[in-house]
Amino acid sequence: RVRVRFAPSPTGALHIGGVRTALYNYLFAKQHGGDLVFRIEDTDSNRFVPGAEEYIIESFKWLGIKFDEGVSFGGDKGPYRQSERRDIYKKYVQQLLDADKAYIAFDTPEELEAKRAEIQNFQYDCHTRGQMRNSLTMPKDEVEKLIAEGKQYVVRFKVEAGQEILVNDLIRGEVRVKSDICDDKVLYKSADELPTYHLANIVDDHLMEISHVIRGEEWLPSAPLHVMLYRAFGWEDTMPQFAHLPLLLKPDGKGKLSKRDGDRLGFPVFPLLWKDPKSGETSRGYREDGYFPEAVINFLALLGWNPGTEQEIFSLDELVPLFDISKCSKAGAKFAFEKAVWFNHEYILKKSNEEIAALFEPIVKEHCPNETSERILKVTEMMKDRVSFVHEMWPLCSFFFEAPTAYDEKTAKKRWKEDSAQVMTELIGVLEGIDDFSLENQEQIVHAWVEQKEYKLGNVMNAWRLTLVGEGKGPGMFDISAFLGKEETIARMKRAIE
Ligand code: GLU
Repeated sequence: RVRVRFAPSPTGALHIGGVRTALYNYLFAKQHGGDLVFRIEDTDSNRFVPGAEEYIIESFKWLGIKFDEGVSFGGDKGPYRQSERRDIYKKYVQQLLDADKAYIAFDTPEELEAKRAEIQNFQYDCHTRGQMRNSLTMPKDEVEKLIAEGKQYVVRFKVEAGQEILVNDLIRGEVRVKSDICDDKVLYKSADELPTYHLANIVDDHLMEISHVIRGEEWLPSAPLHVMLYRAFGWEDTMPQFAHLPLLLKPDGKGKLSKRDGDRLGFPVFPLLWKDPKSGETSRGYREDGYFPEAVINFLALLGWNPGTEQEIFSLDELVPLFDISKCSKAGAKFAFEKAVWFNHEYILKKSNEEIAALFEPIVKEHCPNETSERILKVTEMMKDRVSFVHEMWPLCSFFFEAPTAYDEKTAKKRWKEDSAQVMTELIGVLEGIDDFSLENQEQIVHAWVEQKEYKLGNVMNAWRLTLVGEGKGPGMFDISAFLGKEETIARMKRAIE
């Protein structure tokens, strides 16, 4: 059975790259009828940030990515929060120690620092471990004595020398690494009685029966160690398959997209607005910036994978059968955030007028509390194809709801001719005579009048627009006058020529 997991560390807001990792895991799970597990990797207590876990859960709720089990989702392979699995890890650390596949090391930070100063590029590995203070170099009773005295230690993995480690990656193919260049990573720290990421990750993936590990490329260098750990535990047969996803790059392609790039370059890199509990600083989020979750999903799905056709608009459900992990690109994907804006525009068009109007309504009502839903819907129909975000609509079309209080000078200079006031007075007369103020009827009568008078239609419309809108923007004039109605149209015209 396909079982995948998304396993964030609660160290702050969820980076958009993490969202893409979760999305690809989701698509992979769904297309195989498998499960997606949500695990919290919080064994590094120094980096724990309160509120981060809740933030991550809320982000996925907003995005519509559903987990089958895990923290807050239930399931029978829990607990799914690593800080609640201490005893489980202890048992497995002991298993490695007993099998001589790991050892206890007492080196203090100062001693390690001194070694680094002494030996260039010092690595704690099969070449140097003999020089250090650990259970491989010290008599057994001394080791036991130190532990009994309460001396702090770490457990390190004993990398076997002279091995070739093969990582089979669904995206990158076979990656081979010599074990001699791998260091003896710390698996466990007595100080907090917690395992490190590597040990907890392998033990949990095994116990939670994870079949595929799909994660960011930054974890590729750890993969050989993970393969060695599976071997050391004797879990090779059920070792998950790996897929390391390409990095998200800065928009200019120069380097990895960082958490700071968003605010620096003016776009969000987090799904939701994030307020850092320590600094109090806030970072923008896609939700608060007015993006639709569908647009964010669509945008992210195509960063690192494409369906091989021209089609660009996909719902989450449509992506499920199409996604192909083996066709993910090996090269990093440039984070072209303008494309996210484009997607949002496409989703504005795709959504019904009613849906967009419902989102626009509270914005209109901030200005005009008594405005009716019916009129808001009408304006939405006229305006929605001109914007990428719902919040862009009000500045473009507030004139439907509020009469202009000033007239744009530049437009007036260009479009308000010597005879405009006279022509508008005549037009008021014409409009007053119209009983059926529908768009079509007005259009017919006003056009006939313009023709008969031999006025220039453009000039008449430009001046008229200025009286109703206050500037040169907006949809067709008869759309505007029909919407405003006879009384309001004439009132605005009279005010303009006063
Ligand atoms: N906790 C790791 C992270 O924050 C998970 C890496 C993995 O998926 O193995 O990215």
